[in-house]
Amino acid sequence: MRIVRFQREPTDPPSWGWVKEDRIGVIEESPFEPFRRQEALLLMDKVRLLAPVTPGKIVCVGWNYLVHADELNAEVPKVPLLFLKPPSSVIGPGQAIRLPPQSNQVEHEGELVVIIGRQGRWVSPDESTQLILGYSIANDVTARDLQRSDDQWTRAKGFDTFCPLGPWIETELDTSDTLVKCSVNGQLRQMASTRDMIFPVRELIAFISSIMTLEPGDIILTGTPAGVGKLNPGDEVTVEIEGIGSLTNPVREDAHSK
Ligand code: ZN
Repeated sequence: MRIVRFQREPTDPPSWGWVKEDRIGVIEESPFEPFRRQEALLLMDKVRLLAPVTPGKIVCVGWNYLVHADELNAEVPKVPLLFLKPPSSVIGPGQAIRLPPQSNQVEHEGELVVIIGRQGRWVSPDESTQLILGYSIANDVTARDLQRSDDQWTRAKGFDTFCPLGPWIETELDTSDTLVKCSVNGQLRQMASTRDMIFPVRELIAFISSIMTLEPGDIILTGTPAGVGKLNPGDEVTVEIEGIGSLTNPVREDAHSK
């Protein structure tokens, strides 16, 4: 099933919904508890899709694809390298990524996202799947120059609009061999299979849950493949994941830039 958050009018409070072909049905309550689905009557074209979750924690994994670690001259990690993005960095499908004046090199990172549906701590890789509500798509937008100059990545990864997320949560996905692609203005920049992840999803969840309690609505960005590259004002960046769909965002200068 595909789960969305949407608004019919800009002034409406967000609603949860489920997708049936080109239509949406309202989900009563939320997908984080037992819910009831209404009939899918709303045309998806007529509503505005929002980021499919307002995350608590955004836990990210660095260097999780061998070839990407190579291109940035990083050593292959022995345990997953974790960092956090702030919830304020999240934007939905179609919303603009804003290039901040502090950076000259903002880059895209297309990534598979795990949406946590249940609380868990110290779960084993086998138990980890019980915590998963579903999967979505994110762009771990990164100010590469600031990432290189700072030991900690909070600034480089934490600007407003640096976490496009969506368009929905797909509850059924086999993550053992799924293609992750990223293109800019229609030109393919990144493409790899999740098969090439150094730490697969179940190991990531087990590792993260040995550090912090995972809560419903937390999300995990599982790392990006090779091919990261610069974004310029006017670009349009699309991350596509096989079995989920695609997430497109325009790129604009920050209003503060000039
Ligand atoms: Zn990343």
